[in-house]
Amino acid sequence: MKTVVVKIGGSLLGSIEEYFNVAKRLEKEFIRKGFKLVVVVSAAKGVTDSLVKVVEVGKGLEEVHEKYLEIASNLSSTIKYRVAVKLAELDEKARLGNLNSYVKARILAYGEEISRIILGSILDYIGLRVVEVSALDIVKARGNPLNARIDYSSTSRLVNTAIPKILGEVDVVVVEGFIASNSDGQVVVLGRGGSDYTATTLASLLGVDAYLLSNVPGILSGNPEHIGSVRKVPVLDYDEAVEAAIHGAKKLHPRTFEPLKHLDNHGIRVYVGGLNNSYTTVVPWTTSPSLKLTASRSNRNSSIVALIGKCNNRLRVAKKLVEELAENNIEYIGLHVPPNRPVIRVVVPRRQVVEATRIAHEIVVGGGYD
Ligand code: ASP
Ligand code: MG
Repeated sequence: MKTVVVKIGGSLLGSIEEYFNVAKRLEKEFIRKGFKLVVVVSAAKGVTDSLVKVVEVGKGLEEVHEKYLEIASNLSSTIKYRVAVKLAELDEKARLGNLNSYVKARILAYGEEISRIILGSILDYIGLRVVEVSALDIVKARGNPLNARIDYSSTSRLVNTAIPKILGEVDVVVVEGFIASNSDGQVVVLGRGGSDYTATTLASLLGVDAYLLSNVPGILSGNPEHIGSVRKVPVLDYDEAVEAAIHGAKKLHPRTFEPLKHLDNHGIRVYVGGLNNSYTTVVPWTTSPSLKLTASRSNRNSSIVALIGKCNNRLRVAKKLVEELAENNIEYIGLHVPPNRPVIRVVVPRRQVVEATRIAHEIVVGGGYD
């Protein structure tokens, strides 16, 4: 029996109808085709943003209550009760005031925990055999409790002991993304967008393919907020995908593709896309040389704009890039062509990031650099 890991992003979980829609799609696209599923679920749409407000400025609890009580309102009384218990625990933690990082992580984690209860109950309702697993029991992580790093070896032991056995008896395991526990058993979170990182880790450790699903049809050639004419990138190899995530493509977690590079993952593929079967496929073999996308990340004053793709003429690309930037009066602060990595990076003032990305994108889609 083949297994796949499917991550469901919060952008697909805005209402009870959307939870049902996701559940039915999982049944149709995977279960009916004979797959077993590990579903990695994010918090409902907007909930993590609200919880971040709770831990940072002490506001936003009502939004979380409202969202989840509304979503749960038509579910069974058992589920409503389970959701209410979690919300009460959340309130209690939020009332503590003067929150340290561990309490903050504990608060953020409720977003995913409640979402797992809801999606699990809906998968069960539509007739699938489902077991809920808490990520706190199988995903181990260390370091900063708000931006923890998965500990692959202890996670591997727990995952490979639990998951195959459960999937021998049921169709679906549903588990939270983004949350984990450290070696002392404290709750930690993996940083914004961390569900992608959970999903690729579980897939790599189980040696199965992963689908990272959200409301975007794939990894795009540029940020659609900056550029009008972006197109979907059909295929990236592991090295290119690593750079895409590090440099902020599709707001993926920066470590999304790290497990593919660092674990013996049996050459799995990762499909990044939406519910409509449109994907960017991340493959274990080397893709044909070309520039494939641009991405950018900004801090307070500056931005890094990256041109990503295996390409034999990186110095020619870099030369073209700085010429074009100069012609458009963009004062680039630094240029970086790291050896052995499929990326060219330029640092620009933040106020010029849109213009710089547009220029980089023209070079990428213009072709001619193999
Ligand atoms: N809910 C978390 C976030 O919004 C994790 C995720 O969605 O991947 O950042
Ligand atoms: Mg989210």
